[in-house]
Amino acid sequence: MPETTNKIKALVSTKLTQGYRKNDFCYVPENELVRRAFVCEKHMEDPDEETCGCNRAFEGIRGYSTTTAKVAFVDMTREQYIDEYVKTNPFAAFYEKDEDYRKEIEEDAKWFLKAADSFEIGTVFEFRAGKFDVRDVEKGKL
Ligand SMILES: [Zn+2]
Repeated sequence: MPETTNKIKALVSTKLTQGYRKNDFCYVPENELVRRAFVCEKHMEDPDEETCGCNRAFEGIRGYSTTTAKVAFVDMTREQYIDEYVKTNPFAAFYEKDEDYRKEIEEDAKWFLKAADSFEIGTVFEFRAGKFDVRDVEKGKL
């Protein structure tokens, strides 16, 4: 059968399950692609610290953060996704000259794709201390 679309599964921002944790937040518009957020050094250990939330959040590719993301179809190829993921990295200006760093970001993009691809459309994820976890939408709480 001929390929008619370029749809891939990826993680996008969602407000679904917001409030399952008391320190949830979602400032990324619904359905925007998300990626790994930059985690500040002082918050590496504690995803629940109350000052910035970096270690329990995804980052929208256009900025802002959310503690919740879902698996959705997006209309792009894997290559376009990886390119977008790399290009919109806040440190893009630096790794243009740093091939190793670029590779690292690409690997991260592939890891995100793999996570999305392993679950059904609509599955809600959180991302705490560098680890994905699925939220139980049916149950309505953690
Ligand atoms: Zn932080």
